[in-house]
Amino acid sequence: MRSKIRSCFNESDEEFSDWKWQYRNRITTVEELEKLIPLSNSEKKDIKKALEVFPMAISPYYASLIDPEDPECPIRLQAVPQSVELQTSSWELEDPLCEDQDSPSEESCITHRYPDRVLFLISNRCGMYCRHCTRKRRVGNREYDYSEKAIREGIEYVRTRPEVRDVLLSGGDALLVSDERLDWLLGELFSIPHVEIVRLGTRAPVTLPQRITPELCEILGKYPSVWLNTHFNHPKEITTEAKKAMDMLSRTGIPLGNQSVLLRGVNDCPTVIKNLCHELLRIRTKPYYLYQCDLSFGLEHFRTSVARGIEIIEMLRGHTSGLAVPTFVVDAPGGGGKIPVGPNYLISNSDTGVTLRNYEGVICFYPEPAEYSGKCQQNCSICDKHPGLKSDTGLAKLYDEENEIISLEPENLERKQRF
Ligand SMILES: *Cc1c(COP(=O)(O)O)cnc(C)c1O
Ligand code: SF4
Repeated sequence: MRSKIRSCFNESDEEFSDWKWQYRNRITTVEELEKLIPLSNSEKKDIKKALEVFPMAISPYYASLIDPEDPECPIRLQAVPQSVELQTSSWELEDPLCEDQDSPSEESCITHRYPDRVLFLISNRCGMYCRHCTRKRRVGNREYDYSEKAIREGIEYVRTRPEVRDVLLSGGDALLVSDERLDWLLGELFSIPHVEIVRLGTRAPVTLPQRITPELCEILGKYPSVWLNTHFNHPKEITTEAKKAMDMLSRTGIPLGNQSVLLRGVNDCPTVIKNLCHELLRIRTKPYYLYQCDLSFGLEHFRTSVARGIEIIEMLRGHTSGLAVPTFVVDAPGGGGKIPVGPNYLISNSDTGVTLRNYEGVICFYPEPAEYSGKCQQNCSICDKHPGLKSDTGLAKLYDEENEIISLEPENLERKQRF
């Protein structure tokens, strides 16, 4: 059945199911928007002001999921600008995750933060500009359209770094490039012997599910290990169309994951998240991360406390399938990367064992083995054969007996410079 909003578009079913039609006909102005949902004069003025800071673009499909009667509709809150986006807080940053700082150069598509994997931005297009986007500085901004030259340089970067075994293609949206370009890019990346997996970061299954075509699946299915992470935030987004897109991908053999953002008023409720995670498993998708909202410009109204995220995990772990529990992470401002946070289950430990509590509040004691040295007891040669597998960053330095370091300390520690 056509929704009230869908009947505002004068399109055929064939057009509606064509992703290029959907992309071309994204709603970008207040005039188009007011045909779909009732807007007061002051709302219109607010939206126009907000648009000067971050553009609007909503695919007709995603717009058709908005409940026009409900100003608090979770779909609407993610898609339609609000004047509160203009209220900035002193904590906000343009590039809160310092992605630009971890790039080989200013124009580069690459962010190389972790030892063995890189983020590779290949497009600045999206089926919809999410109001909560953390990459507002790049997305929807023409200056950052990625040229073929920049992409070739990204491939060369990966080729010259043998430690990179995992490449995350993202954007914008990694699927908003042409089939031909994606095919070429995957071919180049998989021709590099040290590239083991390629991950696609895309919100297309949510905002533009028509993008998942048999032709696209045929391309993705040619390569040995393509993974895909998408971004459902609310169970209302798991529609017939979205289910079909995810089904096509999983039948192609693509392992599917989901990264949600915890958003005030949209999904900051244990029941909504539990429902979402159950629905995700039904479409063969693993809830991978739940993100604390970043400190990008104009997101203050979407932020929840970190405590709320921890509470949500508390209400999931043990209460439902372990498969349905994502890892809650705070992406560290300043570029420290994702930091997992969650409830504490370790109550205490003693010489002889650990005291733990479970999700029901039951407290138990687990005795440690009487004799265990903690030293490597395996008579194998994996460390010698694959030196790259051994961690040498962070606490790993302290654990390594051959390393003389017994503490980690910040650079220019004041105490050390006193005398
Ligand atoms: C999130 C992220 C990754 C991937 O992290 P995983 O924990 O492996 O999923 C890689 N690089 C950057 C810059 C990231 O932000
Ligand atoms: S799809 Fe992703 S990159 Fe694009 S606007 Fe939404 S959150 Fe930002």
